[in-house]
Amino acid sequence: MADRHWAIIVHGGARTIAPDRIVANRNGCAAAAAAGAAILERGGGAVEAARVAVCMLEDDPTFNAGRGSVANAAGEIEMDAGIMDGETLAIGAVAAVHRLHNPVEAAAEMLDQVPVLLVGKGAEAFARSRGLPVASKPLRPVPAEAAGHDTVGCVAFDRAGHLAAATSTGGLAGTLSGRVGDAPLPGGGFYADDAIGAVSLSGDGEAIARMLVGARVMRAMEDMPAPEAVRAIRAPLQRLGAEAGVIAIDARGRIGLDHNSDHFAVAFASADRELVAITHSDEWTGE
Ligand code: ASP
Repeated sequence: MADRHWAIIVHGGARTIAPDRIVANRNGCAAAAAAGAAILERGGGAVEAARVAVCMLEDDPTFNAGRGSVANAAGEIEMDAGIMDGETLAIGAVAAVHRLHNPVEAAAEMLDQVPVLLVGKGAEAFARSRGLPVASKPLRPVPAEAAGHDTVGCVAFDRAGHLAAATSTGGLAGTLSGRVGDAPLPGGGFYADDAIGAVSLSGDGEAIARMLVGARVMRAMEDMPAPEAVRAIRAPLQRLGAEAGVIAIDARGRIGLDHNSDHFAVAFASADRELVAITHSDEWTGE
């Protein structure tokens, strides 16, 4: 019988956060984690909790996703998002979209579809076919100088023992038009499997993709709890001189986080723990 535990963790990106943006990052993550926690507390599903939490982060211009997305080299925004259901292993992902306010909503609508990933106009047409709002013009980017911008994500574990992961990003500022990072790549920026755990990442997308960093943390969770397994990001990131952060929950609902960036805005809560919101892993002393 599934136990009654539930847990949720969200992130607002792994990078340097300017001192005057710390509170906004912490509060934004806390609000998103609280919204997801309320769903899990009343017995709602992990996929729903992750979708709602990431939507809230996309709506908060503090973060580089959805409303807060930064411009690429062409001065346009191109957003990527992915979500995975750890019970069914269904995946939905969209990439290089610029007319969707909430890319994670379009990704979630794909969970019952065969394709794993839709890009650009096809993804936007699919979103429209599902009744999601699609802007008539490309959404406008925010200035990249606005510190604290980065990818957002959520990992959730529900009372039925199911896991979900979702990640959404406006990408890295100034990248080539058409560039897609790790956020919509399963095993890169997200993954979820009820038998093992679930992860969401932020950081240098090319390095995360090249080293399959998300998959490495999943592999580590086969042998150890999430708080230890997250350290599997360290060696591959060091090898490529890259920066990233990861949040994870294992199959027993234990939470882990790790990063090698200056900051990592994170908030988490569980059936047995009040909500905690931090901007560096050192602020959390653990279980
Ligand atoms: N991982 C994202 C990307 O490469 C960006 C980030 O997390 O900062 O698109």
